Amino acid sequence: SLTWRAGAEADLDGVLLYTDEETLEKLSKDFYWYSPVLDKRLKDKKADAVIAPKNEREVEEVLAFAYRHRIPVTARGAGTGNYGQSIPLQGGIVLDLSRLDRIVEIGDGYARVQCGVKLGVLEKTAREQGQELRIYPSTYAKATVGGFVSGGSGGVGSITWGSLWDGNVLSAVVYSLEEQPQRLEISGEALVDYIHNYGTTGIMTEVTIPLAAKTAWTQVVVQFDEFEGALQFGEALSLDDSVPKRLVTPIEWPLPSFFKPLQKVLSPNKHVVFTEVAEGSLTQLSEIAASFKGEVGHIIGPEMYRKTIGLSDFTWNHTTLWALKADSAYTYLQAGFEPGRYLEQLRTLKAMFGDELLMHFEWIRSGGQLLPNALPVVRFTTEERLYHIIATCRSIGVEIYDPHTWMLDNGGRGAVVSMQLRKQANDPLSLLNPGKIG
Ligand code: FAD
Repeated sequence: SLTWRAGAEADLDGVLLYTDEETLEKLSKDFYWYSPVLDKRLKDKKADAVIAPKNEREVEEVLAFAYRHRIPVTARGAGTGNYGQSIPLQGGIVLDLSRLDRIVEIGDGYARVQCGVKLGVLEKTAREQGQELRIYPSTYAKATVGGFVSGGSGGVGSITWGSLWDGNVLSAVVYSLEEQPQRLEISGEALVDYIHNYGTTGIMTEVTIPLAAKTAWTQVVVQFDEFEGALQFGEALSLDDSVPKRLVTPIEWPLPSFFKPLQKVLSPNKHVVFTEVAEGSLTQLSEIAASFKGEVGHIIGPEMYRKTIGLSDFTWNHTTLWALKADSAYTYLQAGFEPGRYLEQLRTLKAMFGDELLMHFEWIRSGGQLLPNALPVVRFTTEERLYHIIATCRSIGVEIYDPHTWMLDNGGRGAVVSMQLRKQANDPLSLLNPGKIG
């Protein structure tokens, strides 16, 4: 019943609340349609109200209101998630946190921000002060810090700094959903119940993340006739610690043919590795490239950083986006190849699936290990076929973090037992983003 909605405006005096159909539809959706499986199942889900608090006090008020009336609450940053994370499966309130957008403090080596600050804004502000983000998703222009911490994993910078779990969140302020919501200050090991939680264990209002020293980045395309050479070059470059880097992305042809804005500068029929390396590393990079029969192609100098479309706009899940723009039949997977066996695994998959699976890797360093992670682009036909491909990958030791489910435990987190316990304590009525955690 929606009787609560009629009283909401009076009860939440002065808090911005939307009930018009257009806003409800727009702010109930994310980039779930990247998955044809999710697209079919989540299309019709919609909030009953969108509430957009402007400060912590209003967040607390809304949460207490939701508890009193037993209303589900689904947090939303910018809604750029890919797994329907911010889609309210059971209706209720979408809590739009984008107005909590104050950079509270930038100190030496860290930034403390409200959850709705856009990563792109923080990066720009930090760089003006001689620092920069360690890691960010390729959606940084729109995505919020809170949304990244609560629903993302890694991105540009992960080749040096790892993923969200590698010390890239220092502390957070989180509200519980109880009769009297508590303001919890979380740091250290306890953060594990809040990172990538889809807002199921609490609402994060403030986050402190570490910053790195600002570097002048050169973006370099390296081109290859053989995709295996591209991958091996990526590994060798990643292992060379004397080259500071932010991005090492091997992409199989024909995926580069979908990158329309780069058509003039990419050679046809070449596999590519997109890199961001520190200014002054070009000679070293060229030498490594040559030893794997790679040729340095297009270069964007540091003076043009962020002044033109950048190489990172074609990496991470943006690679899939360009493929989808070219042909809506494409979708993708998230995969972890084995460091010592990735070439053999690649050969097996290419032999079985050919161009049904177009390869896109992201070299990352996590837990002290260099990992060949991948976001292969898949030509989708049926769900059965998709799950056959997934099963085949798993059978040869390629881990799949299934992006075609909204369930937290299937989406790559592994065990979520401690999160479930945390949820019982912080959200006794199970109102936070219900249906996402088993
Ligand atoms: P939303 O989508 O709004 O929210 C994400 C999740 O967090 C939801 O479950 C939401 O309920 C919850 N949430 C949001 N704010 C809060 C809060 N304050 N408190 C509690 N819960 C909250 N992801 C990556 O990790 N790396 C990438 O490189 C990457 N590339 C992408 C490329 C494309 C083209 C697209 C479409 C997506 C990509 N993503 C990537 C996914 C997504 O863009 C990022 O994870 C992004 O950081 C999410 O931020 P957001 O503000 O849009 O969060």
